[in-house]
Amino acid sequence: MTEFSAEFSRSLRTAGVVGAGGAGFPAYVKAQGRAEYALVNAAECEPLLKKDQKLLEYFPERVFDGLELLMRAVGASRGVLGIKKKHEAIIPRLKEIAKSRKNISVLEMGDYYPAGDEQCLVYEATGRIVPPGGIPLEVGCVVANVETLYNASFAPRPVTETFVTVNGAVKKPATFRVPVGITWRECVELCGGPTVKDPAYIDGGPMMGKVQTDFDLPLVKASGGIIVLPKDHPLIVKKAQSRPVFTRVGRSACDQCSYCTEFCPRYLLGHNVQPHRVMRTMLFAGGPEHKLHSQYGLLCCECSLCSLYACPEGLHPREACVSAKSDLREQKVGFKNSQLNTGKKPEVHPVRDFRKVPVSKLVRRLGLEDYNKAAPWSDAVYTPGKVKILMSQHIGAPCVPAVKEGQRVEKGAVVGDLPADKLGCPVHASISGTVGKVNERYVEIIA
Ligand code: SF4
Ligand code: SF4
Repeated sequence: MTEFSAEFSRSLRTAGVVGAGGAGFPAYVKAQGRAEYALVNAAECEPLLKKDQKLLEYFPERVFDGLELLMRAVGASRGVLGIKKKHEAIIPRLKEIAKSRKNISVLEMGDYYPAGDEQCLVYEATGRIVPPGGIPLEVGCVVANVETLYNASFAPRPVTETFVTVNGAVKKPATFRVPVGITWRECVELCGGPTVKDPAYIDGGPMMGKVQTDFDLPLVKASGGIIVLPKDHPLIVKKAQSRPVFTRVGRSACDQCSYCTEFCPRYLLGHNVQPHRVMRTMLFAGGPEHKLHSQYGLLCCECSLCSLYACPEGLHPREACVSAKSDLREQKVGFKNSQLNTGKKPEVHPVRDFRKVPVSKLVRRLGLEDYNKAAPWSDAVYTPGKVKILMSQHIGAPCVPAVKEGQRVEKGAVVGDLPADKLGCPVHASISGTVGKVNERYVEIIA
């Protein structure tokens, strides 16, 4: 690690920068690697979410600043920003900025799902395939999300805000920046409130996000948006089905057509993921819990394409893969020690390009045509009365509260911390105020 990498990595940890694309992997770890390519994942392929495109429209220089810092830290000789061609209104500006920076280019991608899958992006940008069970670093790539790089450009300034899109059944869908720790209810109110009587929401995109009914859950640094829908919308109903239900239906209705496998983006990249085989084992899985032992789900990236698009029977192959991974984890089996880890080099499926699923078709299949609104940028500043800062917001060890009830804190102060040798980042006060409740789950701050 160079002196600059060490310093930048420290800055990122101090600032609490984490991957803003979902799981929230601590960004400082990526900055410690060595890579030839630094890739910006601006594909934003989840239907209805717009925050990455809005961020690139309004703050593009910052994202490129973050990319340059990352390139310098990992020693990358090339930076590539991958964005869908359909964002033609902002691409010329991005290309202009890229031209003014050294060794950075813009890659225009098709409008398919999941173009933003990290491994798909690596392949599209470099022609390299991440080895099964591996990470992009193994093929000389480091991948970062748009908002992650925006935040990195300000490090060591703490991350206290998050960019979100609120779309679906709300009066005025919008994209904006709000303090971490406010509730989804406040976000929905900022958009004029729900347009349906009995709403539920998906935290994240419709494909990979989780169904929630509690609108008082606080936003975390990795929050990217919510899709509000009627509670009885087929997508909400399907995503909310429990394991006993989808197991019972899957056991009786799967006809082994294998469409789930044929459309799987990781299978098409040459990885041995075969959800239809996992579904098949449901028939043989015994015991009251029907534990699954199939290893063909171990490389599943949980994109949901099989469950929400490919399966003609409306079954849950993704959930079968997730269940199998979890059951195998109990037996301490992961891909590396599985029988499928043969060391064979993956080869891209010859029909991969023809099996890419257009997002427009996906939106129709999900029944979201009426909810797919523009969600324009709003720069209104929201000042909440209180926030709840969760101690566990992303991948890594949870923080331990670093403040006491009644204490005065300023915006940006550390309110939860963890030892330097643990994977994770501190969390910060997103508003100035007095500390309210403190427990191992969260720190409340009252303005
Ligand atoms: S697509 Fe559906 S029916 Fe076909 S094999 Fe997969 S789970 Fe079974
Ligand atoms: S969710 Fe389905 S389509 Fe997606 S990676 Fe897993 S098995 Fe493949």
